[in-house]
Amino acid sequence: MNRTLTSYIYPAVEAASVAAECTAWEAPGEPVSFATALRNRFTPRSPGDAWGAPWGTTWLSIRADVPVEWRGRRTELIVELGFNDEMEGFQVEGIAYAESGEAVKALNPQSRWLPVEVGALDVAYIVEAASNPVLLPKVQDELVFAPTPLGDPATAGLRPQYVLGNSRLALVDEGARALIHDLEVLSELARSLPAESARRWEILVALEASLNVLDVHDVGATSRAARQALVAVLDQPAVGSAHILNAIGHAHIDSAWLWPLRETRRKVARTVANVLQLMDEDPDLLYAMSSAQQFAWLEEDHPDLFRRLSARFAEGRFLPVGGMWVESDVNMPSGESLVRQLVTGTRYFEEKFGDVAKVGWLPDSFGYSAALPQILKLAGYHRFITQKISWNTTNKFPHHTFWWEGIDGSRVLTHFPSADMYNSNVTVADVAHAASNFADKGWVNRSVLPFGFGDGGGGPTREMMERAARMRDLEGSARVEVSSPVKFFDQVEQEFADPQVWLGEMYLEFHRGIYTSQARTKCGNRRVEQLFREAELWATQARVRADQDYPFHALERLWQEVLVLQFHDVLPGTSIAWVHNEAEQTYARVESELVSIVESSLVALSGPGPGASIANASPFARSGVSGHSISTPVVRDGAVSAHSSDGLVILDNGVVRVAIAEDGTVVELTDLQRSRRVISNGDRGNLLRIYRDVPTKWDAWDIDAGYRATGLDVDSVVSARIEERGSRCAFVVDRAFGSSTASQEIVVTAGSAQVDFTTRVDWHERDRLLKVEFPLALSTERWAAETQFGHTYRTTHTNTSWDTAKFEACAHRWVHVGEPGYGVAVINDRTYGHSVRRVGSRDSGGIRTSVELSLVRGPRYPDPKADQGAHTFRYAVHVGADIEDAVRAGYEFTDSAREVSGGTPVPALAEFRGRGVVIDTVKMADDRSGDFIVRAYESLGARQEVQFSVSVDADAVYDVDLLENRICADLDLTQSLTFSPFQIRTFRVELSDAERNFEGG
Ligand SMILES: [Zn+2]
Repeated sequence: MNRTLTSYIYPAVEAASVAAECTAWEAPGEPVSFATALRNRFTPRSPGDAWGAPWGTTWLSIRADVPVEWRGRRTELIVELGFNDEMEGFQVEGIAYAESGEAVKALNPQSRWLPVEVGALDVAYIVEAASNPVLLPKVQDELVFAPTPLGDPATAGLRPQYVLGNSRLALVDEGARALIHDLEVLSELARSLPAESARRWEILVALEASLNVLDVHDVGATSRAARQALVAVLDQPAVGSAHILNAIGHAHIDSAWLWPLRETRRKVARTVANVLQLMDEDPDLLYAMSSAQQFAWLEEDHPDLFRRLSARFAEGRFLPVGGMWVESDVNMPSGESLVRQLVTGTRYFEEKFGDVAKVGWLPDSFGYSAALPQILKLAGYHRFITQKISWNTTNKFPHHTFWWEGIDGSRVLTHFPSADMYNSNVTVADVAHAASNFADKGWVNRSVLPFGFGDGGGGPTREMMERAARMRDLEGSARVEVSSPVKFFDQVEQEFADPQVWLGEMYLEFHRGIYTSQARTKCGNRRVEQLFREAELWATQARVRADQDYPFHALERLWQEVLVLQFHDVLPGTSIAWVHNEAEQTYARVESELVSIVESSLVALSGPGPGASIANASPFARSGVSGHSISTPVVRDGAVSAHSSDGLVILDNGVVRVAIAEDGTVVELTDLQRSRRVISNGDRGNLLRIYRDVPTKWDAWDIDAGYRATGLDVDSVVSARIEERGSRCAFVVDRAFGSSTASQEIVVTAGSAQVDFTTRVDWHERDRLLKVEFPLALSTERWAAETQFGHTYRTTHTNTSWDTAKFEACAHRWVHVGEPGYGVAVINDRTYGHSVRRVGSRDSGGIRTSVELSLVRGPRYPDPKADQGAHTFRYAVHVGADIEDAVRAGYEFTDSAREVSGGTPVPALAEFRGRGVVIDTVKMADDRSGDFIVRAYESLGARQEVQFSVSVDADAVYDVDLLENRICADLDLTQSLTFSPFQIRTFRVELSDAERNFEGG
């Protein structure tokens, strides 16, 4: 069968062909517009010509005359750019324009044709071809993760990447093409059925009959009869219990990855052009596209395609999904970042399309934080589709359709496509796997099948639609219905009364390096998240109290730039050098713009004149300055001493005592107030350890479990000294290891229960992981890690395979470990990767809990220079801390307290009295009404009664959703408010007319 297809029937589709003429112009450097390209001189090109520097763009003019005898028959222009058959996407691509400049269709390895109007005398297209280099080659079906200079334009060189093939005008035999789909579907179906199945034999007999009437030397004349022989088996309807696949056209286009952001803009345009072309031909096609940013790029770059897309939206065929600005990572972004992902994306969809059905859509992000269900729901997303957890290497997730419940008890109806993929080709094998793999059989019998080539592969194809049509109602196969995700969920809600519940995070048992790779990108993210909080806080204060314009436009633009960089291959550190270099530049620019918003707001607020006030951007009081307010600080009492004793350096402030050994590690940390040793018994804290870190695949993504066996202490000392700095005492030790150096600083501050550490590393290691560890004298089965608007627990032991698999996990600003009545928090300013383990035993030095922060790696793929150079990591150990202390210390460690010159005190705009409720965000309302917004959350995981107050004259205060729409009646602030555990509440404060004097800018 395969031989007959390959040798005779596939070639018969092109009944005849004539060569096309090709001329070209190679654009120097970055892409140019259609109009610019056409102003240049195109020169002749021939098959066999090498073309295309890495990341270059070549404009081709391709034309052919239609032979007289073909007029009135179907022809296609086949353009051979030099495609690699092995991969869809990840290589050369093109988009074809009519001579008028209108984008018509893309050229992709699996879709190399351009339409020719029946009856035309000739055909001509202008093709914008992108010679994107192959960075992830496939050899014998295996991906090859080899370091390559091609990911950075500075090192990519100029060597042509592709060779032009024989572009031609082809006369198409549609009968042969249809026969191929019949034969492929039936032969694959027969293969998928058990040998004893009668249906299998029925199909095999029909296939034999079909091939018997087909003359392989004259497919054109005999294909009709060959198809006729298959009609009966193709018409045999599916059995009543057949699984139903709600298939939806899709293309997973990574917003940046093995290509820069600018190329994604073009990938989106090419894919959408294909989709619209296919929609014109096939009325059954529905297409789901995520990422508002990708729509916005298209709107800007190709208004013609965007108009056509909007018309298809109006017909219910082109479906925006997801509602996020990009398909973000959802482990590392802050709570407010995830809010803005959803709000910014959803507002865009509402503005451009009106009423868009809300379905959460994150098929490819690397694990899903337990805070996400609540955030999704508060933005109006009650339904969620993902898939990535099928990549787990240890445990198989038990459900495909289930309630996913977050830390606060919010549930979203969640579905994993049981095909274990988001880019099916709608092969019989994919369909059969989706049906057999489905975990919730008996309760419900349908799943979603997203199909289409992603990442520049071109999206759904006519071949996929043909196969889907044949499997719509076919005995032996699941039923394939092209339909929308919304229809899928509507049906599931009717059919599945009581889905099982999965509580907490959906941890991806894979890709554990993503919390650490490209440390500078992560640092940029954490830093700007903190600055957004600060800039919006002070700009709101300045608007409300000093009538200063609120920088709506600037903040919106800056948020959009940062939201893009939270994409699930950028913030995780898994993109090429080009992407990360750009990200670092963007963060630096955003940071300086945010700082100037902060500074101008503070000048407006605190007024001129002398004074040494502090603007405290943390929601918690510090140095006597209340949270979110400006006033004069109270100088902290107490002193710190540093002295040497028995070969140890002792730093002591009466609250904590730190003993530092000659090797510069902390051999004793004592909480003097509670007379408790936190590090002792021969353990060493602040110990740097370096590990071999050579994952078998997916370098930047993975830390393989075996790394643990390869650790070496970094404890040799180059020099060491004590530095006394007013109310602080520091011990500084300089180290050298491998090709790198490190300087570690241990600081004790007067009156503080927190020991601060700064580790500066000049990192020149590859395939190495640097961690810092604190073996804490605490026995606990679990540890808490800060996540968005709350925290989540993981175990310190390895009882089950699920526990064992979480050997590296994400935390935001802090982790907390404790015994009843006593705990310790470890705080950080930019680190996400942590491992927390139970070590030792009662019989050998006692049980300890080792808290380890992963500081830096040096993966070589896809960026061979990842992480090289200087990094500064700050972290701290806070003794005698409960969760409340950890939350406060996390804000204090990262949020600025700025000195301001003016002397005018400024109270917080809003505050809660009582325990546990934290105001995370204060901002002006997006609708520019002059109202301001306060977003708060319960931070301890407990039910709280609190008193809410605002310090300005307000007409009304009420709850809103994340889109800032009212969801309750006016609140009576003389009454206390209730927060449930980890509840997020957003309040809108309407100012009285007296307060609302000016319109914002
Ligand atoms: Zn992806």
